[in-house]
Amino acid sequence: MRALVLTEPRRPLVLLERPDPTPGPGQVLLDVRACAVCRTDLHIVDGELPDPKLPLVPGHQIVGEVRAEVPRPGHAPRFARGARVGVPWLGFTCGTCAYCRAGRENLCDAARFTGYQIDGGFASRVVADARYCFPLPEGVPDLQAAPLLCAGLIGYRTLRMAGDAERIGIYGFGAAAHLVVQVARYQGRRVFGFVRAWDEKGKAFAREMGAEWAGASNEPPPVELDAALIFAPAGELVPAALRAVRKGGTVVCGGIHMSDIPSFPYSILWGERVLRSVANLTRQDGEEFLALAPRVPLRTEVNVYPLEEGAAALEDLRAGRFSGAAVLVVANDEIPADRA
Ligand SMILES: [Zn+2]
Ligand SMILES: [Zn+2]
Repeated sequence: MRALVLTEPRRPLVLLERPDPTPGPGQVLLDVRACAVCRTDLHIVDGELPDPKLPLVPGHQIVGEVRAEVPRPGHAPRFARGARVGVPWLGFTCGTCAYCRAGRENLCDAARFTGYQIDGGFASRVVADARYCFPLPEGVPDLQAAPLLCAGLIGYRTLRMAGDAERIGIYGFGAAAHLVVQVARYQGRRVFGFVRAWDEKGKAFAREMGAEWAGASNEPPPVELDAALIFAPAGELVPAALRAVRKGGTVVCGGIHMSDIPSFPYSILWGERVLRSVANLTRQDGEEFLALAPRVPLRTEVNVYPLEEGAAALEDLRAGRFSGAAVLVVANDEIPADRA
């Protein structure tokens, strides 16, 4: 198989030929069809998240086709050969810690993550634990489906943490935000988009995707917000968002990494405002969100790169050169043309 490999943090990914991975008990071997690129991949490559597996194949928004499954002893296989499945960030949980037992497997003490502690989908083949793969809804093409698996899913969890807030501010209008705004509108909420002051293209994109107003992130919105969701990894957005929400409002940080939050006066948190983060996903989040996506229906803005140009996709994400999501596609000769 071919794989884009991180040999050590802060070094460019290298394209390598490797032997196919071998599935163990409970695992599926997948032909990768597409894998979306996430800002978390960039944080891992840049060494901002500690202790990745090395060498590592990043990528945790995988659309693949089941080539083989080795069932766990005493269990039937979960998927038929040829089934189309999605592999998300959550790759393993222990099932026994206090978090797992309380239905909060996203916080599992022993969790392992795809494209971080487990080789991911920037490759033509991958193995994954079948219990953490999702069957993908019919009618959502591969390129549209891939960004749903993290940008969509964790964006959805972030939105859920806003409760029944009607007026929602979204800070940072990338892959997650452009999907969340569609879900929020579908649920009858009003959305206000915040981007960098000079980013006229970003403002236009936010409005096009459903925000009723788009402005600079240090600008007050036209109305007080009930909640704010922060997707950009910039700590200075936290006090900006706290200033924009009403008393009792909530600010939710949806990313895995953020620059330091500058100090701020207690008065902007006072009034029972809530500041919280969102970590990872549960399988239940995935099932709910993937059932919801075709009903909205979500439209993903996709920028396609061949697997071989994955490093360029990461650089374009870093530089903000595209709107929406980047997706790597794998030209896999062994997939029949009518399925590709
Ligand atoms: Zn992600
Ligand atoms: Zn656990």
